[in-house]
Amino acid sequence: MERKKRIVIALGGNALGNTLPEQMAAVKITARAIVDLIEEGCEVVVAHGNGPQVGMINNAMIALTHEDEAQPNTPLSVCVAMSQAYIGYDLQNALREELLNRGITDVPVATMITQVRVDENDPAFQSPSKPIGKFMTPQQAQEVSEKYDYIMKEDAGRGYRRVVASPKPVEIIEIGTIRTMVESGDLVIACGGGGIPVVRQGNHLKGASAVIDKDFASCLLAKELDADSLIILTAVEKVAINYGTPEEQWLDQVSVSQARQYIAEGHFAPGSMLPKVEAAIDFASSKEGRTAIITLLEKSREAVQGKTGTQFVATHP
Ligand code: ADP
Ligand code: MG
Repeated sequence: MERKKRIVIALGGNALGNTLPEQMAAVKITARAIVDLIEEGCEVVVAHGNGPQVGMINNAMIALTHEDEAQPNTPLSVCVAMSQAYIGYDLQNALREELLNRGITDVPVATMITQVRVDENDPAFQSPSKPIGKFMTPQQAQEVSEKYDYIMKEDAGRGYRRVVASPKPVEIIEIGTIRTMVESGDLVIACGGGGIPVVRQGNHLKGASAVIDKDFASCLLAKELDADSLIILTAVEKVAINYGTPEEQWLDQVSVSQARQYIAEGHFAPGSMLPKVEAAIDFASSKEGRTAIITLLEKSREAVQGKTGTQFVATHP
């Protein structure tokens, strides 16, 4: 029997929404898109981001310390773990229901709490860049920075936000279990929020104060599972050069060398499109036959059929 096409899907913010009710509604649409791919005959593994959710959990845990002096502040790694469980719960529930609605009864769905090792010497720890959580006044920012040692930065004229380090993922600790589950035909949700960041201390894995970019974690997951395709689902159908200008041009198919040149020319915004394009290049160039696609959630079936999205291909001589 021919091996099924294995796809790792990376879900962005718009697949999950910003509040509890939004997420509950969004996962139903997301589940439809994912089950569409299973009906196409693909084997799917799901990864996702957690920007709004980890910020929300972090703020809730800060509020707890205000209410109860006996409660110390919650480490960011624990907040990421909480976000994996919360998002995984909604997603696996919606996926199960969508599968059953279509008469697919032989695909178990499960979320894997995933730790991802980062390098404690990663330069990202020296320059925190990823904003999380709510906007604050300068006074509030001053207060939390003194109380919790948070680094606060002004964010595009909208107020102050906490910024955290975003180191590169090095190793997926639970990859063996994830692989076993995928091989046995389960629909697995893994590396949520980029994974719980940990550093190795002998046999101990210590939680790190960081949030890993889900685009890079999904790329590592796709490589480790020897996937055929990495599909990054976001808020745009295609990637553009000269984005938002009169010269804007949407890309259909792009070679990794061409994409690298576009990066050098500064076409992709850091923190949003740049990590996706970098992850797409990394995956498509990692082994012959691997492709990466960036597209809209609602277009994932057409994108897998090669009809839309930006498709990244290696140009092997
Ligand atoms: P996600 O939550 O899926 O990670 P982001 O908001 O981080 O989504 O990134 C997607 C956004 O990147 C798009 O909605 C778009 O506004 C922006 N963007 C920046 N540069 C580009 C580009 N060159 N082409 C397309 N979109 C771009
Ligand atoms: Mg993003």
